[in-house]
Amino acid sequence: MAVSQIPTNGGVNPTFQLQDVTVKHNGRAVLEHITVDIPRGGVTAVVGPSGAGKSTMLRILNRFEDPSQGRVTFAGAPMSSHDPALLRRRVGLLSQRPVALAECVADDLRVGAADLSDSDVTQLLSRVDLAELSLGQGTAGLSGGELQRLALARALAVEPSVLLLDEPTSALDSEAAGAVDQVARDLVDQGGTVVVVSHDLDRVRRIASHVVVLRRGRLVEHGSPQELGYSDVDKGNVDG
Ligand code: ADP
Repeated sequence: MAVSQIPTNGGVNPTFQLQDVTVKHNGRAVLEHITVDIPRGGVTAVVGPSGAGKSTMLRILNRFEDPSQGRVTFAGAPMSSHDPALLRRRVGLLSQRPVALAECVADDLRVGAADLSDSDVTQLLSRVDLAELSLGQGTAGLSGGELQRLALARALAVEPSVLLLDEPTSALDSEAAGAVDQVARDLVDQGGTVVVVSHDLDRVRRIASHVVVLRRGRLVEHGSPQELGYSDVDKGNVDG
């Protein structure tokens, strides 16, 4: 399955730019004056303690939320110029607690891609380590980890060029987590971009080419995993 290409728009790099972005909930800033670029291609990891604003940052990247202040661009164009439904086909979000959108597995994968053949469905299931599921199997009885991977397969079904993964491996055993990492690597190998929220710093070091560190809604630092001093996140501060 080919990865759809982001229009180059003059060869834009980065994919996302946040300029002085503030997001408020009930008058309280959960992200404050964030200015950072997310590179096109590669894996950007967003790390920091619980409540730092990591999920909020992911949500503004596909317009599940819009900032209260500041500017976000995607592929060189302001977020506000991107139709949310079309944007979400190019920028897939796997949320922390995904839900099934249809009663059976195959229908769930076809929600955004009605013309998927049975063999496409089977292929997608095996990419996310769910080859044991049958196409007509009910989604109601799936475990949290299975639902997470089903939602990942559903995101892949529309061939996004960017995947936003919010703690994608928290409910998974190491084999299933490895399958998710492989999906991320495959997308990057095809020129796509992955932004992943993770508490697992070993995993971050393994897969990320760029790291963004948040704390209490503020940007602490960002750069390559090697050049960052985010070691205090290691010392037990990740969970707050
Ligand atoms: P993280 O992903 O780093 O744990 P979040 O982005 O989920 O952080 O949340 C940041 C802060 O914003 C938290 O204090 C959270 O309780 C608050 N928050 C997130 N979403 C909402 C919302 N829809 N309404 C009110 N507060 C929210």
